[in-house]
Amino acid sequence: MEIINRRQRMASVARKLRREEEKTIGLVPTMGALHEGHLSLVREARRMCDVVIVSVFVNPAQFGPSEDFNRYPRDLTGDTTKLADYNVDYIFAPPVEEVYPKNYSTYVTVEGLSEPMEGSARPGHFRGVATVLTVLFNTVRPDFAFFGQKDAQQVLVVKRLVRDLAFDIEVVVLPTIREQTGLALSSRNAYLSEEQHKAAGVLYRALSQGREVYLEGERSARRLAEAVRAQVEAEPLARIEYVGVVDAETMEKFDRIPEDRPVLIALAAHVGNTRLIDNILLQPARQKAHTGRLTLPAAES
Ligand code: AMP
Repeated sequence: MEIINRRQRMASVARKLRREEEKTIGLVPTMGALHEGHLSLVREARRMCDVVIVSVFVNPAQFGPSEDFNRYPRDLTGDTTKLADYNVDYIFAPPVEEVYPKNYSTYVTVEGLSEPMEGSARPGHFRGVATVLTVLFNTVRPDFAFFGQKDAQQVLVVKRLVRDLAFDIEVVVLPTIREQTGLALSSRNAYLSEEQHKAAGVLYRALSQGREVYLEGERSARRLAEAVRAQVEAEPLARIEYVGVVDAETMEKFDRIPEDRPVLIALAAHVGNTRLIDNILLQPARQKAHTGRLTLPAAES
């Protein structure tokens, strides 16, 4: 395994693998502080691709001025050990100036899909995401890129970016990995005290409650959102920021949920000072239900 810091070196290594060795390349973009959620993407990349490249880059462009860019957890040594266990071929860990050289001035905006929910709560966030991914995609030119359903809106933004800018990349989306309590794994969980960590389990319980209410036949998006919100608000340590009930493919809002459309219930909440997001996907009854939950084995949770 080689750690690459320079964009040009990454590009030339990837070019050689593609052209001379005809290898398929899988890219797993991350911000590091790796956990089992990230590693599930790496495992699938290893299964599908000849060469696996994991990028580790805390992207300043996707953080707002009052957000946690400076204190975001960074642990390249720990990440390297974990990735070596998964037989990753390359870690691309560029410093900020490599991704955004002096006078950097080109940004990518995915209109529409970037606007609701995370987009309105974090102005500029998806512009930062789409921009860094464009740089990473152009540097590595992977055949496959791997993303987690944990960031459901990001997945839609990325798929649209790939389609609209004609990147020759297949986007692979993998399910959210959760603790036994249901709490989605996140690098930001490291900010939580023990008490807050326990309280944060309410997010998934609330989303599951939303699913129950939906399965019982509720089709008012407002009432569904209220059921989820009420459950989060019952936890004194949690403060809900938004609950969105939207079309899982287009992010469109609806008053009444159509029977034939997949629905995404997504939320953001603060537990103490830590902002967490989570979501659940509800497939219409006629399609294959996605109600399965992926959790860590008990011993590792
Ligand atoms: P991040 O380091 O937070 O930018 O995440 C890098 C990738 O890992 C993104 O595609 C995330 O959606 C994915 N990811 C983060 N947490 C999880 C999780 N709990 N389960 C599955 N994928 C995840």
